[in-house]
Amino acid sequence: MDSKVYFTKEKTAYLKSPGLALISRPDVDISGIANFLQGFPKDYEFIKYIKDPVKLPPAEKLTKVAGQTCYMSFGPKRTWNKEAQKYFDNIIFSGHGSVMEHANFSFLIWGVSRSLTHELVRHRAGCAYSQVSQRYVSGRVLRFVERKEYQGDKHLHELFEERIDRAHREYSEMADYLYAKQEKGYKILLGEQKTDLRKKVQQVSRSLLPNETEAPIVVTANVRAWRHMINMRASDHAEVEIRNVFFNIYKILKDVSPMLFKDFKVVHLPDGTYCVKTTYPKV
Ligand SMILES: Cc1cc2nc3c(=O)[nH]c(=O)nc-3n(C[C@H](O)[C@H](O)[C@H](O)COP(=O)(O)OP(=O)(O)OC[C@H]3O[C@@H](n4cnc5c(N)ncnc54)[C@H](O)[C@@H]3O)c2cc1C
Repeated sequence: MDSKVYFTKEKTAYLKSPGLALISRPDVDISGIANFLQGFPKDYEFIKYIKDPVKLPPAEKLTKVAGQTCYMSFGPKRTWNKEAQKYFDNIIFSGHGSVMEHANFSFLIWGVSRSLTHELVRHRAGCAYSQVSQRYVSGRVLRFVERKEYQGDKHLHELFEERIDRAHREYSEMADYLYAKQEKGYKILLGEQKTDLRKKVQQVSRSLLPNETEAPIVVTANVRAWRHMINMRASDHAEVEIRNVFFNIYKILKDVSPMLFKDFKVVHLPDGTYCVKTTYPKV
């Protein structure tokens, strides 16, 4: 999902919608479990497990093999791949979601505000984050995010453009001023190395940046955590910017891993937006 970059008259960059890239997904090869299965009596027919003729998407394959290890369900009476949806419906219904923690997906998310990432990183269980460092990067990559509410209103849009130009200008002026002070031996900024000095300048300058500053972030989470976050953040109670991101994350994950997200339903809201709901929020 791409997001176009716009510029104000003063060349301040901004985006109007989120960008999303699925950058990692499970790559599963269960052939190695043959050694394990062969260690049981031949008449159990465990070895045939790896030759199930129905192929599953990787996350489903991984989750199913993990779940079936729990009960040593490798023999002919197990749930076969052709009935995998029934297997996952049962896991979801019974809340046995720990097996979904094996499958991880990573997204790069950009064109989103610092307000959004502040809400996002509150999700801790099963999640990993790497977010742009406002202490490390300079004003060269500074961009902003225009909220939907401003986009359809000429006055609010003009105020937004004026505000981000001002924020960009003030940020640069502050950094220039602090670097100039450093040359005169200003105590607060004394850094032993160049990077250290840059951080000391930018950690002061960033205090001027508004919540609508763009905050690119890489998020990795397991399926159980994605399900929980989609439930919380693609809900009609969630803030609209984060809801839009999680609605699109849901659509991507549902495409690549349909059986693990089948219970979620898209609901059209009276204001023309969408949310996602499931009867099984805590799996
Ligand atoms: C609509 C909305 C409004 C919100 N408003 C506010 C607000 O006004 N102020 C505010 O501070 N926050 C607010 N939040 C954030 C919210 O309180 C949570 O911090 C955030 O959604 C993370 O969810 P989680 O606690 O389920 O954590 P996750 O890390 O996503 O955890 C998933 C689940 O794991 C379990 N778990 C995780 N960590 C622990 C733990 N340490 N101990 C025991 N069990 C654990 C819980 O069952 C939890 O639900 C809001 C969230 C939403 C969606």
